[in-house]
Amino acid sequence: MIESNQEYIVISGARENNLNNISLRIPKRKITIFTGVSGSGKSSIVFDTIAAESTRLLNENFSMFVRTFLPKYPQPEADAIENLSMAVIVDQKRLGGGSHSTMGTITDISPIVRLLFSRVGQPYVGPVNLFSFNDPQGMCPACNGIGRSLGVDMDKAIDMSKSLNEGAIMLPDYGAGGWELNMILQSGDFDPDKKLSDYAPDELDQLLYGKARKVKMDFAGKAMNITVEGALEKFTNKYIRQDLKAKSERTQKTVAPFITEGTCTSCHGARLSQAALSCKVQGHNIAELSGMEVGQLVRIIREIDDPAAAPIVQMLSERLQHLVDIGLDYLTLDRETDTLSGGESQRVKMVKHLSGSLVDVTYIFDEPSVGLHPRDVHRLNELLQKLRDKGNTVIVVEHDPDVIKVADHIVDVGPHAGSRGGNIVFEGSFQGLLEAGTLTGHFMKRPLQLKQNCRTPSGQLSVAHASLHNLQDVSVDIPTGVLTVVTGVAGSGKSTLINEVFLGQHADAIVIDQSAIGVSTRSNPATYTGIMDDVRKAFASANKVNQGLFSFNSKGACENCQGLGVVYTDLAFLDSVKLPCEVCGGKRFKEEVLAYKLDGKSIAEVLEMTVEQALAFFQLKEVVRKLQAMSDVGLNYITLGQPLSTLSGGECQRIKLASELHKKGSIYVMDEPTTGLHMSDIGHLLEIMNRLVDAGNTVIVIEHNLEVISQADWIIDMGPDGGSRGGQVVFEGTPEQIVREGRSITGKYLA
Ligand code: ADP
Ligand code: ADP
Ligand code: ZN
Ligand code: ZN
Repeated sequence: MIESNQEYIVISGARENNLNNISLRIPKRKITIFTGVSGSGKSSIVFDTIAAESTRLLNENFSMFVRTFLPKYPQPEADAIENLSMAVIVDQKRLGGGSHSTMGTITDISPIVRLLFSRVGQPYVGPVNLFSFNDPQGMCPACNGIGRSLGVDMDKAIDMSKSLNEGAIMLPDYGAGGWELNMILQSGDFDPDKKLSDYAPDELDQLLYGKARKVKMDFAGKAMNITVEGALEKFTNKYIRQDLKAKSERTQKTVAPFITEGTCTSCHGARLSQAALSCKVQGHNIAELSGMEVGQLVRIIREIDDPAAAPIVQMLSERLQHLVDIGLDYLTLDRETDTLSGGESQRVKMVKHLSGSLVDVTYIFDEPSVGLHPRDVHRLNELLQKLRDKGNTVIVVEHDPDVIKVADHIVDVGPHAGSRGGNIVFEGSFQGLLEAGTLTGHFMKRPLQLKQNCRTPSGQLSVAHASLHNLQDVSVDIPTGVLTVVTGVAGSGKSTLINEVFLGQHADAIVIDQSAIGVSTRSNPATYTGIMDDVRKAFASANKVNQGLFSFNSKGACENCQGLGVVYTDLAFLDSVKLPCEVCGGKRFKEEVLAYKLDGKSIAEVLEMTVEQALAFFQLKEVVRKLQAMSDVGLNYITLGQPLSTLSGGECQRIKLASELHKKGSIYVMDEPTTGLHMSDIGHLLEIMNRLVDAGNTVIVIEHNLEVISQADWIIDMGPDGGSRGGQVVFEGTPEQIVREGRSITGKYLA
């Protein structure tokens, strides 16, 4: 049979970033998985070439007029990219959205639940808007549908043991000589020298809660009408009944200490009006159903046998089942999306697409296994297969062997990172990969080894009677001076136990997480790790000039772009457009600065070096030590000047790790540090963790990766399941013990 080229996305001569003029074909309506060491070029193919071209083509569909307002997407560096369909990128970016965005709203499940209540709820109250806390008709009037309400912290605002002159009112502007205090005193109604505790009840009420009233005030000899209002009443009107977030940052800072936040006393957090809450389905109101774990909710919905609701019940249970299928049965519909982890966010987005009716779309996933226990990986695989079977092309960047197994086609990128990568080292089936001599093939076949000589703890840190979220009165000892791995299925309570309860008690721990670093567009690995300071000094002394010249934040900066290397053009209502600076060509420095050399290289050339190249170039002891730390955490391929904003979550985590490596006697807490790491890099990471422990530190790691679990000195396994069926410590002990123990799911997978 002659294969038609239409059946493939065809890429020829791709050269983005480190790609080595490569050509490949990706079968359409199949699952293709890209693998290879970190920095080998997977993202350069999948995101910077395929997804970028698809976005660019999409924008070409707009009229010329509209396009003049859109950012210009340059064509990716490639000779040709053919047969692309529309690409949808399902990534790990957290779902923001504030308190009005919930799991139910983002998956479009909430509107169906409201429809259900308006059809079969008892007593009948319809209209359907009544059940939406985003709708003025439905929202609780006391809290505007937020479920929480703000109040004044009385202990911080008022000191009853003092008089007004002694500063009884501690709110801003009520101190001695304060404007607000003056107005109150000018009204003549209050004794400034009487302790508040001696005020008569109606006097105190007037002082604190009095409604606004006009009084005549003597102002430099002139009589003026002013408005006097109770101090707490005024504060509430000004800062609590209005959106405080809309005020200046300074104002927010000054008033924040006086404000407390609690559950709304009118709706008790349900966000809805009393009329909506009185209406019930199967004996539960809409807030109760939205607060129920999805696994339980789907069972209750299926029990509805009212024929009037049959189509709605059908649609609802189908969508809820998707959430159960992907292992999110422990979440509730009212869960605010900005509290979901990166992995959970990606799976929620995935569910949205499963319910959609788009076909012939190219779906692109970025390590979708993040946050999933080995037990649940098969659920992810089934979802990827469902998307494919609907007629879509599925492209996945992934390191987990259990996901790689389901690929119809595998592309292994390598052989190494950066300039030593950028080639395709294998294309074909899973069996073919195992037989290929590539790093991925090699590590895929390697059996797990359980750690034998586990270290003896030097002491312990205790958590006692923890009951936050789903934790069921958990008391656990975390050993010090060893490597502890906290594991368990998603939703079992690992992050709650470690990131919230444990860190709440041990604030001095060094947390190495995946959150973005470097708020400024000017930070890069060199500035973050402090290498830049030493490099500037070296340039200054070699050329006998001021070291400020070698900073793109100061004297040396290109004047056109102020050292940013790019110029932002602001557009009235769209994101601003970023263009390379025409004067310095993106080099960020003034031309005269670039004339100064260190061992033949300009400062801009140094910033373009990868960590690996810089290690070969520099001899300065401090610089070498810091570069070596970055190299040790597998960041050889990163350039010194790459903006931190372009790094992935996993890379951010490893840069943080590199800059904290030299501390001693500390507690380190890491959250899935293997994210973004190829199997061959995990050995490196383990070496670093072991080095930290050998230097006298305590290392606590939340992980699902079986290789890391197998190398722990101590395992704490949370479970047995997610959500309300989890929240317990099901096992504490060594890797060999967990495998012998029958009860632990993790133990079964390790065996
Ligand atoms: P992978 O996805 O396999 O981890 P990448 O495609 O992200 O690898 O990176 C391949 C190479 O390209 C690395 O050397 C990386 O540092 C470089 N690179 C990636 N993105 C950029 C960028 N925006 N600017 C400069 N270099 C980049
Ligand atoms: P893990 O880290 O093991 O995946 P988590 O600690 O994130 O588990 O979650 C444990 C339980 O607590 C789950 O039922 C989860 O839905 C719930 N939970 C976690 N964070 C929050 C939050 N911010 N608000 C409400 N519930 C939460
Ligand atoms: Zn309310
Ligand atoms: Zn410039």
